[in-house]
Formats: sequence, structure tokens, C-alpha cells
Amino acid sequence: MTTLFISDLHLDDERPFITELFEQFLRGEAREAQALYILGDLFESWIGDDDDAPLAQRVQDALAELSRSGVTTYFMAGNRDFLAGPRFAQRSGVTLLDDPACVDLAGVPTLLMHGDTLCTDDLAYQKFRAQVRDPAWQQAFLAQPLEQRRAFAAQARAQSRLHTGSAMAQIMDVTDAAVHDALRTGGAQRLIHGHTHRPARHHVELGDRVAERVVLGDWYEQGSVLRVDGSVIELACLR
Ligand code: MN
Repeated sequence: MTTLFISDLHLDDERPFITELFEQFLRGEAREAQALYILGDLFESWIGDDDDAPLAQRVQDALAELSRSGVTTYFMAGNRDFLAGPRFAQRSGVTLLDDPACVDLAGVPTLLMHGDTLCTDDLAYQKFRAQVRDPAWQQAFLAQPLEQRRAFAAQARAQSRLHTGSAMAQIMDVTDAAVHDALRTGGAQRLIHGHTHRPARHHVELGDRVAERVVLGDWYEQGSVLRVDGSVIELACLR
């Protein structure tokens, strides 16, 4: 049976067709899978598990339906939806994963990450990340009314667009050093991550052995999905 991996859907009211594509995927291919792993940035933004916006409700309903059908679904937070917590997990029927997480995939020790922590040359982003992952910051943020949090998310999104436009493409990608460290620390043979929106399969020379790094693509236009069935791996596009 197939295990599926997706990330970087960036679900948002601005792109309703991607939400529809995701719902079709959950009702179709995902139903036949053994497990589904969502490796971060499922949402363009997530302002807290108490969000009552229609999109948040709709996506949680769709995930809950998949989980009720018996497909184990895992969720790892990305840099956009890092506030997705236990209430989201319970409502959606998903199991939260830490970043990084090591899993055994048909005998292959596999490291799962969102991917943002691998972009160690992007110092401005890493500084921002340290701030928003601080429990005290999160507690203060979640104490604000929903409207205020929505305004903050909109502003953070605009800033991120500016940064992505101005930062050099190479500092927005992973560094070899961070990839090597991650694979060595985890003792992994394979690393699967998203975040960079550069879908590909790379061989990684570790000196004593060769590992593989699989990068999931985004869902802005393509609907990237990784299918792993035993030793057969396929990185595909839904459209
Ligand atoms: Mn990301």
C-alpha cells in the first residue's frame, strides 16, 4: 500500500481551486492510501485553533472525513501554520508530528521535516522563526482577539512576499551543511521535506554512504504529491 506525502498547499480564500483540488485528493487517492503525511504549510496562515473562518472549518471537516475512513493522517507544522495545535489535531483527526520526525518507511529510516530549518543562510528568516516559535510569544499572540490576529497574519504575509522577492534565490534554499547534519543526526537514509517549492530528488554524498533528499513541490498550481510504495518512489503532479 502507498504512503502519501504532501506539503505547501498554502490553502487560502484567494485560491479556491486549490482547496477543491485538495478535497478531491482526500476523497480520491488518499482514501486508498495506508497513510498521509502533511509536511507543513497546509494553510497560507493559521492564526489559532479557535479560528472560525469558513476555510479553516471546511479543511478540518475534510481531514476528519479521511481519518474516519481509516487512513492515518500525520501533520507537521510549517512556517505558515506553526500555530496549528492540539485542538486542530483533534478536530481534524490528525496526529501531530515534531519537526524533525524519523519514521521507518518499508525498512528505510526516513527523516521528515518541513524544510525551513534547513535554510540556514537566511538569517533574517531564522531570527523571525526563533521569535514566533517562542512559547511566550505564542501565548501572547493567541490571547489577542481573532480580528487582531488576522491583521497580523496579513501583514506578515506581505512582509514575507517582500523578503522572498528581495532575498537571493540561493539563500532561500537549503544548505548542504544543514542537510548533511540532519541526515547524520537522524541516521537517516532518506530525507523528505517541502518549503522551498523546488520539487526534486537529490543524491546526497555523506562520505561513508549515499542518502536521498526528496523535495515536495507546492500546490499553488501543480498539486505535488510523493507516493512511496515499498522501494518504489514517485514524485508526481496532480495537474
Ligand atoms: Mn514553508
